[in-house]
Amino acid sequence: MINKENDIEARDEYPGFNQDNNELFDANGNFPITEKQRNEMIVKLEGKVAEMMNILRISRNDPNSTHTPGRIARMYVNELLSGRFTPAPELTVFPNRKNVDELIISKGIEIMSLCSHHWQPISGECAIGYIPDRKLIGLSKLSRIAEWFARRGQIQEELGEQIADYLEDLLKPKALGVVIKARHYCMIARGVRGSEANSLMVTSVMRGLLLDEFNLRNEFLKLIE
Ligand SMILES: [Zn+2]
Repeated sequence: MINKENDIEARDEYPGFNQDNNELFDANGNFPITEKQRNEMIVKLEGKVAEMMNILRISRNDPNSTHTPGRIARMYVNELLSGRFTPAPELTVFPNRKNVDELIISKGIEIMSLCSHHWQPISGECAIGYIPDRKLIGLSKLSRIAEWFARRGQIQEELGEQIADYLEDLLKPKALGVVIKARHYCMIARGVRGSEANSLMVTSVMRGLLLDEFNLRNEFLKLIE
């Protein structure tokens, strides 16, 4: 018999489709929808947020709360969870004509995400480094990719892996590293013990030469400090 308490495997006891027969998918998944579909989603969500406010006994006669349902609905669909509903950013990949064989690093990439567990912000920075093989990518594109994955319901560990998987697929680099340092407002806001406002969560994903070669990894970590 399965011990439910310790069962962390994916479960299928919840429906796979919503009332409109749209398929449900993971919080950090992606399924692009049209602008019309997004707007329909916002209208429905607005009604549900209004219900939530009623349950919490927040009067919408309070002028600060009158338009809150629409505001929250638009914020989730168009901003906080936008990476679920938009296609991948357009990326141009360039040939590595000069055979660049050194680390190329973009750091200080702003990460604004949402924790899947509590729907509170995750805010921090990401550094991405790679040693190219035959393909190069513009540094600004690395930020776009990070943003596309961050703007979903996430856990930080999976966010780093998703970014790394995507870049590995796209560039087939010799080495790849994705380091994220972020603050989790679910801990900060709820006042979880031992989690001062300064506490940072650090995750690192290393692939290829960065995984195998100790000196290279040290160089990368030093450069992104
Ligand atoms: Zn959380």
